[in-house]
Amino acid sequence: MTARGIYLDWNATAPLRPTALAAMTSALQEVGNASSVHAFGRRARAWIDQARDEVAALVGGRSALLTFTSGGTEANNLALNSRGTRPLVISAIEHESVLKPARLAGAQVARVGRSGEIDVAHLGYLIDKASESAGRPAFISVMLANNETGVIQPVAEIAHMAKAKGALVHCDATQAVGRVPVDINALGVDYLTISAHKLGGPQGAGALVLAGDLPVEPLVMGGGQERNRRGGTENVAAIAGFGAAAKEAAQLGDVGRIAAMRDALEDRLTQFGLPMTIFGRAAKRLPNTTCFASGTKTAETLVMALDLSGIAISAGSACSSGKVRPSHVISAMGFDAATAGSAIRVSWGWQNEASDIDTFVAAWGRVQRAGLAQRDDAETRISAA
Ligand code: PMP
Repeated sequence: MTARGIYLDWNATAPLRPTALAAMTSALQEVGNASSVHAFGRRARAWIDQARDEVAALVGGRSALLTFTSGGTEANNLALNSRGTRPLVISAIEHESVLKPARLAGAQVARVGRSGEIDVAHLGYLIDKASESAGRPAFISVMLANNETGVIQPVAEIAHMAKAKGALVHCDATQAVGRVPVDINALGVDYLTISAHKLGGPQGAGALVLAGDLPVEPLVMGGGQERNRRGGTENVAAIAGFGAAAKEAAQLGDVGRIAAMRDALEDRLTQFGLPMTIFGRAAKRLPNTTCFASGTKTAETLVMALDLSGIAISAGSACSSGKVRPSHVISAMGFDAATAGSAIRVSWGWQNEASDIDTFVAAWGRVQRAGLAQRDDAETRISAA
């Protein structure tokens, strides 16, 4: 709870960690272009080098193989742009920053099951089909944790299968990093996307990490920054904040407490006697995320009503510039449009307390009861007419 209300939309963006703010404030107070050879430039370079080590360490990667970008979106675009002439295969629940470039590239799209997990057999089938028709191995892009449902995908299994077919594998780990352990080598993927603002760093910073000597086809060309993988004078303060947040996020903090809040929230929601659907409940999920629908109200109404009570949550993906439309993720899981259109996502983190969940449940209950009362009124009017 803050003076502005209760923030339960951490998958949209997480609060800046105080250590990140401190690093950014210090970096902003200095002058120096990291490409300059003088002492001022070397100090800017030192901020970047330190952050590169901290962010790489967070995912078990090598500093020299990490490219800073303007965020997860750019890192995803950069990974897909590096596929060369390989045919692309993705899953139906990827973030728009993978879906959009993939659609342009004519990608094959693998199904997901009702549990929210990618259908590995279907993905394998599409990899074979795409490789055969293109006459060369494929490039795969799959996310580690879904931003809407929190469902953790079987990425290690997918990477193992895809690499046996000669494919290169990219993983968008944006929502997973800092919430569950993520290690690029344990996952067995070639390219890994991270975004700073989901783990307590600033918005507008991200990274693409490579597992080895792999191709990178730059999207932003200019000076030779980032080993020629991404041109442009670096955003030193944002990168410094990213590094500080990554260092702290590596501790993973109170994951047990955060997961207990999810379990308590879901148990209480099911006690309202409404027909609740909790998406991906049977699958492995992020500890801080729950996505559900009761079908009684549209997600848009719920988001607005809860906002009036000072509670921030989100309808489907918050990344679509304020547009509320049925979630492609929930639809891909095989739910009808009414269910998809009423799905809301609640996500939280280290700043929240168990009492925030109590407040949310009480407010949600009030909104639901108001809806039922309105419906009763309408039914009375209809029967009276
Ligand atoms: N991938 C996923 C799964 C995300 O949730 C997001 C952000 N919503 C992104 C990529 C994009 O990251 P950024 O906001 O840093 O561009």
